[in-house]
Amino acid sequence: MDSLPPGSDPIDGQKPSEDCAVVGFKGRINAYEPIITALRTLQHRGQESAGMAVFDGRKTVLKKGRGLVTDVFNPATDSIKGKVGVGHTRYSTAGSKDVIDAGPFVINSQVGFISLSHNGEIVNADELKEEMKKEGVNFQSDSDTEVLLAELSRNISKYGLKKGFEVSMNTLRGAYACAVGINDRLFAMRDPNGIRPLIVGKNADGYIIASESCAIDALDGTIIRNVEPGEVVELTDDGLKTIALHEGEKTAHCMFEYVYFSRPDSTIDGINVYMARVKMGMMLAKESPVEADMVIPVPDSGRSQAIGFSMQSGIPYTEGLMKNRYSERTFIMPTQSDRKAAIRLKLNPVREVISGKRIVLVDDSIVRGNTMRFIVSMMRKYGAKEVHVRIGSPHIIAPCYFGVDMKTKDQFIARGKTDAEINSEIGADSLAFLSIDGLKEAIGLDENNLCLGCLTGTYPIDISKKLAEKITQY
Ligand code: SF4
Repeated sequence: MDSLPPGSDPIDGQKPSEDCAVVGFKGRINAYEPIITALRTLQHRGQESAGMAVFDGRKTVLKKGRGLVTDVFNPATDSIKGKVGVGHTRYSTAGSKDVIDAGPFVINSQVGFISLSHNGEIVNADELKEEMKKEGVNFQSDSDTEVLLAELSRNISKYGLKKGFEVSMNTLRGAYACAVGINDRLFAMRDPNGIRPLIVGKNADGYIIASESCAIDALDGTIIRNVEPGEVVELTDDGLKTIALHEGEKTAHCMFEYVYFSRPDSTIDGINVYMARVKMGMMLAKESPVEADMVIPVPDSGRSQAIGFSMQSGIPYTEGLMKNRYSERTFIMPTQSDRKAAIRLKLNPVREVISGKRIVLVDDSIVRGNTMRFIVSMMRKYGAKEVHVRIGSPHIIAPCYFGVDMKTKDQFIARGKTDAEINSEIGADSLAFLSIDGLKEAIGLDENNLCLGCLTGTYPIDISKKLAEKITQY
């Protein structure tokens, strides 16, 4: 068992982490409260830091800090006032974990205060940074978001708003779903491949930008539409206005948004995440059936796929692993060098449910495999007769360069191994993964519309050898 990184959840900490949530608000009330509500709704997309930048009529006021949204903001003492703002929660995949690298970023430019919240990763950030440094631009952080903001600022200052956005979409390569404030104006910008989600909506108080639709629901809003890949929209008092459109790229929505990252109650690019996960479970049951007494999910990540597996197979769905919801994810015990202890604190099997039964244990994905190995042995200890592991997504074998912390080859238990070899590490009676075709069918999109990079090693954007060497030993 390897040691647990500080602050990691023993279950979710074994999953790949999303890098950020972005939100934006422009309306007739203070932006502070709707931004807090939206960020809290999207807290699952990043728990390292939170921040917001609000234009107060004269200048943009920035507040950010380490921790959850409720750690950083306190409505009783904060005095952030203004009707336009952007917000951010972060899990670092590029740059350091320091507050200086946290979002949003703000710059006082020739066209006014530009604030930026960004979800994704810019793959040519180093090259652009070197270029701008030669022009005399100073950078304060290691974050690719600061490079993105500097690029936007120099292009908008040089070419004006429309052409500035267009030129930036030509020079920036990678994943970027952004909320952008320019003084009292608010924009949403999405990269030409549409890798990360971005949606706009409105409620009685104003317009909302969010990474996921559940944040618009939480504000009692209605969805207007997704921001299209390669599109910049302005949210004005008269509705949405497309400012720039970069056409012609292959759409490549991240398949992992559907498998794990996004909340099941969100609808991403027209596809409900819960329904997609249930279909993944159904496809998995069709592809890899097994005789068993019950289907048990690894909570909470495997729940929707397990429901689908149960529906398709007719094997009853049961909760046989209980998750301790009150073990704080950031609490580090002095002796917590042992992952087993951390998982035992978090998960407990129900002996009376499991004992003497043939079990299908379903999770959404496997990256390293440590947690699954331990859960299987725990199920056996509690008397399971057979444990058949079924994974609701295909084998993860390659790094992600677009904002997910799957970087090094030793992270991937499935890389270069047969299912039998992986299973001998996990110790189950059988193991099966959903096929890539099954995944595409469950989501309802094909390889022309999905990024499958971490499953195939083929990416929608060329990754330079230099970057590949820098990021990973892949
Ligand atoms: S490489 Fe994988 S995790 Fe990264 S964007 Fe593509 S599908 Fe998503």
